[in-house]
Amino acid sequence: MPQAPYTVDELISAKAIAARVEGLARDISTHFADTDKLVVVGLLRGSFIFIADLVREIDLPVEVDFLEASSYGDAMESSREVRILKDLRGEIAGRDVLVVEDIIDTGHTLKHVLEILETRHPRRMEVCALLNKPSRREAHVPAKWIGFDIPDEFVVGYGIDYAQRNRNLPHIGKVRFLES
Ligand code: 5GP
Ligand code: MG
Ligand code: MG
Repeated sequence: MPQAPYTVDELISAKAIAARVEGLARDISTHFADTDKLVVVGLLRGSFIFIADLVREIDLPVEVDFLEASSYGDAMESSREVRILKDLRGEIAGRDVLVVEDIIDTGHTLKHVLEILETRHPRRMEVCALLNKPSRREAHVPAKWIGFDIPDEFVVGYGIDYAQRNRNLPHIGKVRFLES
């Protein structure tokens, strides 16, 4: 389906993101200071740039794994039905796990993913999300670290797409449709 013409207005600069990522990584490193090796689980695909920057600022031994859950497809609304499309490669039983998400919107995706991961009995599991839309929340998710609370806008950039485009923007921007 062809996209209606749109432009992207900057919401969070690359510099502001970098500063926040550094702060998050510092808090995460303190929280997990006693771990042998932290398992950082990135939720694909939107978290791939965030996780790359975050792990480079975490001052602990880390293992990186990925999980892909279905959510939006190319639409702008969540289907509220969540499936695991690609599972972790490693075991998390008895491990310290940090789940890294791009955006918490309704919360349904993350809630479902956390329920699945809990059945594998990690020793400790915490969540870090870059963005949070508090006004949209339907399901409770215990996110210990949030990068930025944002308004109810559809955002792209820094790994986050609109119909697979705009992931390579260095900043976070909001999509604005142009009059035709
Ligand atoms: P939720 O299940 O919390 O409603 O949303 C889950 C996922 O939907 C997010 O992790 C993210 O991948 C996607 N999502 C939510 N809001 C936005 C947005 O503003 N822009 C984009 N591109 N994806 C979003
Ligand atoms: Mg996501
Ligand atoms: Mg998407």
